[in-house]
Parts: sequence; structure tokens; C-alpha cells
Amino acid sequence: MIIDCHTHINNYHREDVESLEGCLAELRRHMRRNRIDLALILTSYKVTAGRPSTKSVVVATRDMKDVYVVAGISFLNFHPGDLVEIETFVKEGTVRALKIYPGYEPFYPHDSKFNPVYEFAAKHRIPVMIHSGDTYSRTGKVKFSHPLQVDEVAVDHPGVNFIICHIGNPWIRDCMEVVYKNQNVFADISGLVLGNFSDRFEEYMRKQLQEMLLFGVEPGKVLFGTDWPISSMESYIEFMDDLALPQKEKKKILYENSLRVFRLEDAVEKLEPNGLKNLLM
Ligand SMILES: [Zn+2]
Repeated sequence: MIIDCHTHINNYHREDVESLEGCLAELRRHMRRNRIDLALILTSYKVTAGRPSTKSVVVATRDMKDVYVVAGISFLNFHPGDLVEIETFVKEGTVRALKIYPGYEPFYPHDSKFNPVYEFAAKHRIPVMIHSGDTYSRTGKVKFSHPLQVDEVAVDHPGVNFIICHIGNPWIRDCMEVVYKNQNVFADISGLVLGNFSDRFEEYMRKQLQEMLLFGVEPGKVLFGTDWPISSMESYIEFMDDLALPQKEKKKILYENSLRVFRLEDAVEKLEPNGLKNLLM
């Protein structure tokens, strides 16, 4: 089994905006081709023609058994009332986590304006994914997206699990420390490359990840995610195949950790009756 905990269906490059249905079909085509059983779709912090709202993605995917939603939350436009709608999606099981975008928006994760977001996450036992590291856009401000900024919020909200996206690349060592130190901090390996890895870069990133595990970050703290369509799924599957790690540990990264952190047990059961039992045997 493979769970991709970090995908998007936004149109980043295209002038002609494809329909939401078209984007979803393309995502699921790539999932099938790469034997990815379940994927989480992260919505943006802004809604535009190419970036559908959380509600529209929830409605479009409600009857699909292989995709679930992570609700993007805007800092600049945040109003605690926004959480009322998200709460209904969390209760029905379509939304499985929240995503915030420091760097893309100018704020630190520990800004008290987001306390209601963390209280919401603690109440519903859902994780908060935090954009970390480089911003894809030149207008981003990376001091806000440094992985060290996650430490403070992790300490102040011990009842919430946080996920540092992109292992904080290029500040991977700082990410290691924050994940190692805090029981409630995890890291996803998504978005390390635009498109396909070159051989040299793949080798470099593999070394970084292996060093992270050597340093003391348990394989139970690392989650498989691609950031598709920014990074290619094919290339990520190859990256995992080439990782020098016992099969038992790879399984943790590929699905066991996501299963636990996002509480996707019911989703696996829906995908295949007795799926969970077979998986854990
Ligand atoms: Zn992403």
C-alpha cells in the first residue's frame, strides 16, 4: 500500500485553466499508474480560477474512495468563523487535516491569531501541515517558512501533531532537530524537486534523508508525499525504491505513518473490505 499525503490539483502553469473534474481525473490517473492507493489533496490559502476552494474539492471528491482533503487556511484572510464549515467536513470524514502556508503569506506559525486553528485541530485530533523551506514563488518570504519556526508552536500546542512539509528543504538539518526533539512533529518528503529528479540530485537527497534517519529521526516520523503535480510521482516511487532502508522501515514511510497521523483506517476499510486487517497482518 502507498499513501501520498501531499498532492495538489491547482493549475500552476497553464494559461487555460482545466476543470476541477479534469484535474481530479489526471491526479487519479497518475495514482493508478504509480500504484498509489490513497492521496490527500491540499487546498490553497487562496481561491482563484485555478485554485479551487476546500468546499468545491470536498463536493467533487465526496464519493471517491481514494482521495481526501486537507483544508488550506489563509492567515491574512483568517476568521475563526471559517472553521465552522470545515468542522462539518471533518465530522463527515472528507477533510483529514489543515494546511497553513507561512512564507507564502507573511506570518510565523506561532502567531497567536492562529490559536483557534490549533485548538480546533486538538479538539478534532487532526494534524496541521505547515509549509516549510523554499517558496515556489519569488514573492514569498522565507524567514517565515524556516522549520525552526515550528518548534515554538509544537511546544505550545502539545496536543496537536504538526507536519513540516518538504523536510524544510533546504534547511533539512534544522528540520531534523525539530522533528527529533518534539514528539508531536513529523516531516513529509514532498516537493524536493520540480518534475523529475536528476540522478545526481536524487542521490544527494537520498543521502540527506538517510542522514536524517541516522541522526535519530525515527522512520516513524517521516511521511511519503510527492507534491504532485509539482514533482512527478514516478520519480518519487523510484526515489523510495532506491532508498537504502529495510523494507519494514520503508513501509512506515510509505503508508503506516500516514495511516496513524491522519487516522485513515476507515478510508482503508472503504477501499477494500478487511483492507486494514490484511495490511496489519
Ligand atoms: Zn505542496
